[in-house]
Amino acid sequence: MISLAATFERGHMSGEDPERLGRLIGSSKRAVVFTGAGISTESGIPDFRSPGGIWTKMMPIDFDEYVRSAEARRESWRRRFAMEGSWREARPNAGHQAVADLVSRGIVSHVITQNIDNLHQESGVSAEQVIELHGNTRYAKCLDCNQRMEIGEIRAMFEEKGEPPDCPSCGGIVKTATISFGQAMPEAEMERAERATRACDLFIVLGSSLVVYPAAGFPILAKRCGARLAIVNREPTEQDEFADLVIHAEIGATMGTAVRTLAWARH
Ligand code: NAD
Ligand code: ZN
Repeated sequence: MISLAATFERGHMSGEDPERLGRLIGSSKRAVVFTGAGISTESGIPDFRSPGGIWTKMMPIDFDEYVRSAEARRESWRRRFAMEGSWREARPNAGHQAVADLVSRGIVSHVITQNIDNLHQESGVSAEQVIELHGNTRYAKCLDCNQRMEIGEIRAMFEEKGEPPDCPSCGGIVKTATISFGQAMPEAEMERAERATRACDLFIVLGSSLVVYPAAGFPILAKRCGARLAIVNREPTEQDEFADLVIHAEIGATMGTAVRTLAWARH
């Protein structure tokens, strides 16, 4: 098998890289942005793997445990309610805004996100153009019939009874609308993400360590289908070697400069 790394020029890092990214975006007819927790740290939401990230503080509760154990469900909801202020107060930052700008100019067709924070939608990207691979923590769903429930109503019932409610329609287990470890990936979103990835000529990764599969398979798929790959991440990722451009810097400032370069070039 031919190594992808050998086929493409390695990105080299210099002060001009945001401008290079801007030019790369300027030459794209149809780009896809792929985001991870790193794009939202500038909005005050910690990521998983940076020092001080969520995983250094508590073990995740996996899907089987959630379904099997009432205590795991209570613990999961206690954690969710403790985070409610942070989720609610978080606002889109310069990185989200730069992405929304590229979507509104028709350059970016879709934003594929591993995030569950709803910040791409809040920055003005239409729900149809955001593909949430790991769901959304801003509301809850019944695991059996998918009925939507709001976090506030679940909290009120939890505080009254000490238990989260069952689904009012079918009695099923209610869970935040996120994908936990061990839970099946959402089929429709995976298909949409695959279609968007195959159709793009530029795939831009923003703030993902690219270790959580199957989500982390999309940048490689994009490369295989002939797209260019750009990665912006504070730390090295496992896929830097496959990329045409790698920028190890903060997303907000980098994307802000890239979009300004693009606006200038297209003037
Ligand atoms: P991750 O925590 O594994 O990696 C985030 C990466 O972003 C790190 O490599 C870090 O160096 C980089 N980073 C952090 N802040 C940055 C910044 N300002 N500029 C540039 N780079 C920055 O995140 P992941 O790959 O998305 O995977 C973690 C999983 O956790 C995801 O599947 C996601 O569902 C979930 N998660 C979501 C949120 C959210 O919705 N905001 C937050 C935490 C975790
Ligand atoms: Zn139900």
